[in-house]
Amino acid sequence: MKSVDAHLAHILATVRPLAPLELDLEQALGTTLAEEVSSPVPLPPFDNSAMDGYAVRACDVVDVPVTLPVIDDVAAGSSELRAVGPGHAVRIMTGAPLPAGADAVVPVEWTNGGTVSVTIDRAAVAGNAIRRAGEDVQAGEVVLKPGTVIGPAQLGIIAGVGRRRVLVRPRPRVVVLSTGAELVEPGLPLGPGQIWDSNSVTLTAAVRESGAEGFRAATVGDDPAAFLDQLDAQLVRADAIVTSGGVSMGAYEPVKEALTPLGTVDFEKVAMQPGMPQGFGVVGEDQVPIFALPGNPVSSFVSFMLFVRPALAKMRGLPAGPPETLSAQVAEPLRSPAGRRSFLRGVLSSDGTVSPVRGQGSHQLAALASANALIVVPEDVTEVPSGAVVEVIRL
Ligand code: AMP
Ligand code: MG
Repeated sequence: MKSVDAHLAHILATVRPLAPLELDLEQALGTTLAEEVSSPVPLPPFDNSAMDGYAVRACDVVDVPVTLPVIDDVAAGSSELRAVGPGHAVRIMTGAPLPAGADAVVPVEWTNGGTVSVTIDRAAVAGNAIRRAGEDVQAGEVVLKPGTVIGPAQLGIIAGVGRRRVLVRPRPRVVVLSTGAELVEPGLPLGPGQIWDSNSVTLTAAVRESGAEGFRAATVGDDPAAFLDQLDAQLVRADAIVTSGGVSMGAYEPVKEALTPLGTVDFEKVAMQPGMPQGFGVVGEDQVPIFALPGNPVSSFVSFMLFVRPALAKMRGLPAGPPETLSAQVAEPLRSPAGRRSFLRGVLSSDGTVSPVRGQGSHQLAALASANALIVVPEDVTEVPSGAVVEVIRL
């Protein structure tokens, strides 16, 4: 059997970061920056007022109270400004350019708020309530580096330096495809022997949660030819394909039967529980990576977390490796098969202890939904006593 680590290493050596492309700001959320973004101008571009108040010469407001004539009114966006001469005040709003001659802003709260003349009750030192040009960013300064994931604040600074388009690695487009003659679309009635297709829903959501775009394709039955047709149709819009079901040892394993003859997808046993049967390889002219995950709901989800999620990180141009773990103390004894790494579903508490949930079968989706962590038990460990320290993967 192949080890979990060897399987992930093989996957990460195969998948490539997506090629950068230019996107409009509107499309860039969640993508990875592929260029240095710098500002063509200083930010702020000009000295401006940090408050609503009065622009003055600080030397005129040393002895207070003092009453000064208000010679002008400047709002944000004003461009025609009268200079502030000795003994003058200009009413000024937040963000408005500082008129020549002024070296301080007196907040309106320190005054009587006058519009013809203003009485100032408190002295202001030079520089008071002024935002200097270049205080945030100097002209030419780099504001974002390649490899940064673009979130709301990053989009903000890209717009803030005046850019409309930006070079990014896009979010990978991932098609999720469930196989199984027994599957019925949720919302439709079940016939005898049927179950609702939950895997494609889970996996598509997991794709989206991994920063990629998930497309849930129509389920196919257990016919390899129908599977290949659907795969062909979906490949045009896919940077990666995730399938569920049809990869184990039984009869009616359409994914395995359809992909094995291609010679580019390997079906192997990986030393883990759940999720032992795994398929991985590339398909189509563009060598699109395909993850053929087992059908049991817990197996496909755990496989996604261990193998697909890191691969998507690599495709996004981000650092990629095994899921992060943290240490916790088990509240109950655990059992695990020899020679396989177990990923038991558990509840991690804020006190740093973790308890396995009831129902560790690979079909027990409700138990998975009640868990918030996977407890990792190494290959060579078969029993873990209560109170021992284990590694857990947060879900
Ligand atoms: P398979 O890997 O196709 O042999 O499926 C293994 C088990 O997982 C069977 O009990 C299937 O009914 C179940 N299963 C397969 N696909 C799905 C799915 N999309 N949603 C829920 N259960 C599934
Ligand atoms: Mg099946």
